[in-house]
Amino acid sequence: MPAAILAAACAPQPAATTNPTPVTLPARIGSNPFFVESSLPYHAPRFDLIRNEDYQVALEEGMKQQLAEIDSIARQTTQPTFENTIVAMEKAGALLTRVSKTFTGVVGANTNDTLQKIQDAEAPKLAATNDAIYLNDQLYQRVKSVYDRRNASNISPEQVALIERYNRDFVRGGAQLSEADKTRIKSINQELSKLSTDFTNKLLAGTKAGALVVDNPSQLAGLTNDEIQTAADAAKQRGLNGKWVVPLRNTTQQPSQAELTNRAVRQKLFELSTLRTERSDSNDTRGTIRRMAELRAEKAKLLGYPTWADYALATQGAKTPGNAIKLLTDLVPPATARARSEAADMQKLIDQQGGGFKLQPWDWQYYSEQVRKAKYDLDESQIMPYFELNNVLQNGVFFAANKLYGLTFKERHDIPVYNPDVRTFEVFDANGQPLALFYADYFKRDNKQGGAWMDQFVDQSALTGWKPVVYNVANFTKPAPGQPALLTYDDVTTMFHEFGHALHGMFSNVQYPTLSGTNVPRDFVEFPSQFNEHWALDPTVFANYAKHYQTGAPMPAALVAKIKNSQTFNQGFAMTEILAASLLDFAWHTLPAGSAPQDVDAFEAAALKRFNVDVPEVPPRYHSTYFSHIWDGGYSAGYYAYTWSEVLDDDAFAWFREHGGLTRANGDRFRSMILSRGGTVDAATLYRSFRGRDPNVEALLEQRGLKSSDSIVK
Ligand SMILES: [Zn+2]
Repeated sequence: MPAAILAAACAPQPAATTNPTPVTLPARIGSNPFFVESSLPYHAPRFDLIRNEDYQVALEEGMKQQLAEIDSIARQTTQPTFENTIVAMEKAGALLTRVSKTFTGVVGANTNDTLQKIQDAEAPKLAATNDAIYLNDQLYQRVKSVYDRRNASNISPEQVALIERYNRDFVRGGAQLSEADKTRIKSINQELSKLSTDFTNKLLAGTKAGALVVDNPSQLAGLTNDEIQTAADAAKQRGLNGKWVVPLRNTTQQPSQAELTNRAVRQKLFELSTLRTERSDSNDTRGTIRRMAELRAEKAKLLGYPTWADYALATQGAKTPGNAIKLLTDLVPPATARARSEAADMQKLIDQQGGGFKLQPWDWQYYSEQVRKAKYDLDESQIMPYFELNNVLQNGVFFAANKLYGLTFKERHDIPVYNPDVRTFEVFDANGQPLALFYADYFKRDNKQGGAWMDQFVDQSALTGWKPVVYNVANFTKPAPGQPALLTYDDVTTMFHEFGHALHGMFSNVQYPTLSGTNVPRDFVEFPSQFNEHWALDPTVFANYAKHYQTGAPMPAALVAKIKNSQTFNQGFAMTEILAASLLDFAWHTLPAGSAPQDVDAFEAAALKRFNVDVPEVPPRYHSTYFSHIWDGGYSAGYYAYTWSEVLDDDAFAWFREHGGLTRANGDRFRSMILSRGGTVDAATLYRSFRGRDPNVEALLEQRGLKSSDSIVK
């Protein structure tokens, strides 16, 4: 079934299907590039032909075609079979899949007013189309009939997995409800879809409007000359000649706070960030999220679950909110204890410098950067010249994929893109055969959502015979014209992370699109991406990419050692801000129906206190009002997935260390047992077969340097 159009988070969107059968063109829409399969390599989107208006026409026609196809599947009078019901549904909706996947990509990474309006108009219709399928009783009876006979001898394990997925999705969509409850579900879905779009639009506008604007570059003291030039350019782009603009990133903390020497400016930037969607203006999201929490709780109740989190986690590795919350709350004591000791270190520094004030959240990065310099003698500006973007990509990210999996990459300049910043690469397998097409869109733009993510224009499937078309999007600072793009180490890690998702999509080797690539539980999907981050610091990989952009000299060993030593630095802060956000997510989504709070801010404060993550200097990575993962990114009751997956990725990387690290044999094993399997096998089973046992948190605690003798973590 085609994906609902959601704003992308870090990770991919839900399943969609593809169909190799060409669609017959009604004459009036003959020039619409979506109405035929793309003739480009890998069926890549026709960005050379697509106009903004084409999306709406194709979405509308796509929904119409899909509903007609589904209707004819439902109305068959022959006995339901795997082929005539399940496979037929896999093939249905080809046009809608084609247009919605491309639309999701451009709305997330390169939007404009027309596209926003189309999304506003179409999102509720897409939700209604989805409901028309999952609440179609005739169709459900056919699915159920196949499901009841799924253990017949001629059905393969992957087919069983697909049948179970369909049956589950129908039940979770409300197929077993009374007519009255079905009607209510439809109306809830309509309202949720609209609210989610409202949230996205408000957040995008609030983030843009929340940028720091200054009249004099002296207020930006501490930033590099290039960064100040970038701020001047950003102002010009907004028509604010003679001013300087520092745009907001999506997280609470802003990277510039590490450099800005003027404390009042740091505070202002912090407040702009935290209040971006709480100004009681048209961008205020408090009413939106309160209503969303209320509706989700009601929907869960209708479907037989005590809360939305119970409903959401039933299909996840964690199974219940209790299991996920236990992992998080077990990590709270070591994380917050470390954060408090980090705060004490910084307060000492402030006092030594005669600062005469108490450390505040807007000071954290500034002083932690100083402590880092003092403790590890490490200065971000010293290391950035060794992390030139193209070098990191080709000689780091691609190199690691070559060493582990034998992949090679060739940049192509003939594949149309939606923005000149986007680059495309053809990916070849170890045997030289074409494997996938990869797009990289790394620079920040005002019309791009915050954060970084991966998604696909085309899913791998043996049924369709199509190879994957995968993209990575990030928000790295775009250099001034003629200047090199120098990355922070965080950016380097992000690039490896998103490419880990890309590998999961590219290595997919399954029959059915619904089970392809990253169509796995949310708390498993971050495992391949976070796992791939580990290679950034592998000695062989690191030595191959960390070279000075001017001289080509390798990073001096002393500097490398400093980066390694500093890996456990500030982890109290990093873990605490993530735990706080994850627990806030659960606070909202473990509310029983009818109990949404009136006062969003008071509710949030009480929740942080209840979970013991109310460390004043360490605010949540996202406050509720701009937490896009949980309100529009498909991570509702799912932000814990990063931590849950981290247990897996650290534990799996420990396996690599135990078996010789960066080798083709290890890579090929990981590829065949994890990365190629998509959703064809239960995630816990996949992991157990790879590791030889269930995961444990030891490797995570060690990786983050949070291990201590008095830790209560088991
Ligand atoms: Zn991710």
